[in-house]
Amino acid sequence: MEKVESGLRTLIVEDDVVSRFTLQKLLSRYGRTDVTVNGIEAVEAFTAALEEDDPYDAIMLDIMMPEMDGQQALKEIRKIESERDVPPGRETKIVMVTALDTPRDVIESFYRGGCSSYVVKPIERRKIYETLRDIGLPID
Ligand SMILES: [Mg+2]
Repeated sequence: MEKVESGLRTLIVEDDVVSRFTLQKLLSRYGRTDVTVNGIEAVEAFTAALEEDDPYDAIMLDIMMPEMDGQQALKEIRKIESERDVPPGRETKIVMVTALDTPRDVIESFYRGGCSSYVVKPIERRKIYETLRDIGLPID
């Protein structure tokens, strides 16, 4: 399969189908998007991408999900990066996607989990693009 050399590689982690489709629509114009539906799959996809030497530029990570939630997935991903000596500054940008009733989770994501930013649902085009731009991704 031919590899796409330009553009962003993003991973969407979201158990709600409508949110997932919306994020995919917004992000796919900037490159390749992969989709997973819980934290376990997210960690697997993240690890596979690292092993292919083709890591994600950004992960959109829902907090409330079955199996493994976004908080746990965030911690696992940061742990894997540190175990595999991903150099400082080269870590994948992780944006927590949160419902209005999870502010405590957002604080935990920043202070303990090392997320890059967060967006509050409902997912809207302008919010997503602004957030990604703010953390340094080439979004026009
Ligand atoms: Mg959810």
